[in-house]
Amino acid sequence: MASAAEDLSALTTLELPAKATARRDVADLPALREALDVARAAGLPVIVLGEGSNVVFAGDVEALVLRYTATGRTVLAEDDESVTLRVAAGEHWHSLVAWCLEQGYHGFENLALIPGTVGAAPIQNIGAYGVELAPFVEAVHAVRIADGESLVLSRSDCAFGYRDSVFKGALRDAVVITAVDFRLQRTAAPVTDYPTLREALAGRAQAPGPRDVFDAVVALRRARLPDPATTPNAGSFFKNPVVDTATADELARRYPGMPQFEAPGGRKLAAGWLIEQCGWRGVEGEGVAVHPGHALVLVSHGGDGRALLALARRIQASVAETFGCHLEIEPRVYGVAA
Ligand SMILES: Cc1cc2nc3c(=O)[nH]c(=O)nc-3n(C[C@H](O)[C@H](O)[C@H](O)COP(=O)(O)OP(=O)(O)OC[C@H]3O[C@@H](n4cnc5c(N)ncnc54)[C@H](O)[C@@H]3O)c2cc1C
Repeated sequence: MASAAEDLSALTTLELPAKATARRDVADLPALREALDVARAAGLPVIVLGEGSNVVFAGDVEALVLRYTATGRTVLAEDDESVTLRVAAGEHWHSLVAWCLEQGYHGFENLALIPGTVGAAPIQNIGAYGVELAPFVEAVHAVRIADGESLVLSRSDCAFGYRDSVFKGALRDAVVITAVDFRLQRTAAPVTDYPTLREALAGRAQAPGPRDVFDAVVALRRARLPDPATTPNAGSFFKNPVVDTATADELARRYPGMPQFEAPGGRKLAAGWLIEQCGWRGVEGEGVAVHPGHALVLVSHGGDGRALLALARRIQASVAETFGCHLEIEPRVYGVAA
């Protein structure tokens, strides 16, 4: 294991400057267990990374930054109705979605083009265009960082919620996910009720099929979201806040036109709309900015994590002052006291 300070800037889509005590990529279970043993012996905490598309390094970290890069897709069971797949954690998420579509395994179409790995997908229960990962997950396979033991978690063990799971709670920083089992359908049942997707698919002679949904989602995402390859970003920087129904009604009365969506516990507000109303769209300084086309996305133009988080805190304060609701940061932040 390297002991010199390791540069992390190329490991995340925000490309923020930061260093780690050590970093290592491992491609199989024996190498993973050996790396965990070495970190334990050196007294180093472990930070697990995938493609770094939902991570902010706000400063240097005294840790082993570890990527589990194993790939592979295995059909565990298949019948006329469904298929169960085991997919290794290092697989690229969008490649899996595209492959499933080609195979006639349906359900993932709305989740096309979400950056990242299969191993990271359960962490925040990735979701987009009216679909979340959770209902497709049969099991999550993991290795416990503390002792190298193998664990298998069922869907209910994962405690999935909106951009949430047990891996952000009781098992935060406690496991390396090594594979995920998914169950997909052989008959497509396209989900097209998300407003922008419905609009994109409107006016067709025939009901949209799974390929139409996949293509529409890819086109919408390409048109709406900045590409991290050219504009370093981590996607949505804040979760959409959920408020109780009475608060939502009062906000709707004060701000006609405020988008609101039914959600468990009340109504979900559109964080991007709240930020835009507070005048933050396109604001920039110190090498970081609110994207001019999408107020929910913070971008880096060579700035650092401290500048990015300072901008995020100013946005949180102004949204709290104007609308009385708290915006929670979506990406995982490392390198600062919580
Ligand atoms: C342009 C853009 C658009 C996005 N759009 C969406 C979207 O529509 N919906 C959505 O839900 N997300 C979206 N995201 C966020 C991101 O794509 C997802 O959170 C994705 O799952 C992160 O994958 P990753 O491999 O990059 O994980 P990383 O960013 O490397 O890690 C994220 C978290 O997962 C943990 N982790 C990663 N791999 C493992 C593992 N094998 N075992 C244990 N822990 C692990 C890390 O420790 C970290 O806490 C977007 C991001 C970008 C940049």
